[in-house]
Amino acid sequence: MIQTTKKILILGSTGSIGTNCLHIVEQMREAFQVVGLATFSRVEKLLEQARLFHPEWVAVSSGQITGSARKTFRDLGVHVFSGAHALEQISLESDYNMMVNAVVGAAGFLPTLHAIGKGADIALANKETLVIGGELVMAQAKKQNVAVLPVDSEHSAIFQSLMGESSETVEQIILTASGGPFRTWSKELLSSVTVEQALKHPNWNMGKKITIDSATMMNKGLEVIEAIRLFHVSVDKIKVVIHPQSVIHSMVAFIDGSVKAQLGVPDMRVPIQLALTYPERKFSRFPRLDFGKYTELTFEEPDLNKFQALALAFEAGRIGGTAPAVLNAANEVAVSLFLNRKIRFDQIPQLVEQAVMKHQVVQNPDKNQLLAADLWARQNVERFI
Ligand code: NDP
Ligand code: MG
Repeated sequence: MIQTTKKILILGSTGSIGTNCLHIVEQMREAFQVVGLATFSRVEKLLEQARLFHPEWVAVSSGQITGSARKTFRDLGVHVFSGAHALEQISLESDYNMMVNAVVGAAGFLPTLHAIGKGADIALANKETLVIGGELVMAQAKKQNVAVLPVDSEHSAIFQSLMGESSETVEQIILTASGGPFRTWSKELLSSVTVEQALKHPNWNMGKKITIDSATMMNKGLEVIEAIRLFHVSVDKIKVVIHPQSVIHSMVAFIDGSVKAQLGVPDMRVPIQLALTYPERKFSRFPRLDFGKYTELTFEEPDLNKFQALALAFEAGRIGGTAPAVLNAANEVAVSLFLNRKIRFDQIPQLVEQAVMKHQVVQNPDKNQLLAADLWARQNVERFI
């Protein structure tokens, strides 16, 4: 079989998903050509990556790049985009057939649309893209015959469980959740959570924003919305189950009573690799699941009264239109206020709730209405403290 090289553009290459992605690419040099890398501000790390992977383009969204770094990129033959529009520019102007979108937050939304416009497949880690404008993104992807391949471990598990199945036979999608570091804490204690405590996830090593989202369980909420968009199901077909060992990455229940699950060691490289190599499944040396080590797999119902963020996301998913975009933007601002020690941990869902309640929802929004809703939430959240 003739192996074609995928030309990939990696947005967020210096982050947790981005660096894992490059490790995989390093092991499969013949299958991938890294044509572009994009970051926010970690230029030194980007330079290191550029020396190893020889991209043609890089982007630095913060715009903070020294003259000497620019010169080094130039000497390496790399074109640099920098500043607030760098991510969009690299998405529009570079030549790739697969985008790995691993930036964090709403910054990933427009680049996803640009990639679809160019007909490039997308390995999507940036769940915020689908929360903000999932209906629009999936409709455009369908029109352009572009594959949106999930990197998020739960969605990769669902994607794999759905292989060979027809969508009419799906009864329920069961998203598993670790429950985060505060699974066993009382609701009252959540007001005393420190930044350090919230940044310690029991099973996964991830970027700061998603780690806080996991602690509030907003991450699972965003994943509920991500799932309804990716798999075209109604929110009522999604169930969240707490599974503290993070071995079952998610499941699909079918109309005959059968349930399919995907299992594995909690290691993001597995879903990243599958998204990169799809439709093929390739050999890896990642750790194997040793059932001797996991003598117990347990399940619990999530406490929606304690983890209000999860309840809010279900609600925003039910409302639809611009509500999920507002939920997402308000959450981004609230998480950053918490990380900067401006608000308490339990104020994160409170601010998000205020934003979702006060927002005038627009149904069937276009791109500009989604961006306007996102901006409205960002400008107003702090007033709700
Ligand atoms: P990190 O914080 O580790 O990395 C984020 C990356 O995005 C960095 O390279 C960062 O650059 C870059 N970035 C951030 N903002 C911008 C911007 N405005 N413009 C350009 N680049 C930007 O995050 P993660 O890797 O943990 O997460 C990335 C995405 O993947 C998130 O959407 C998350 O929800 C999702 N995800 C992550 C998982 C994980 O295990 N980490 C699991 C499932 C989903 P710089 O380094 O310069 O700051
Ligand atoms: Mg996940």
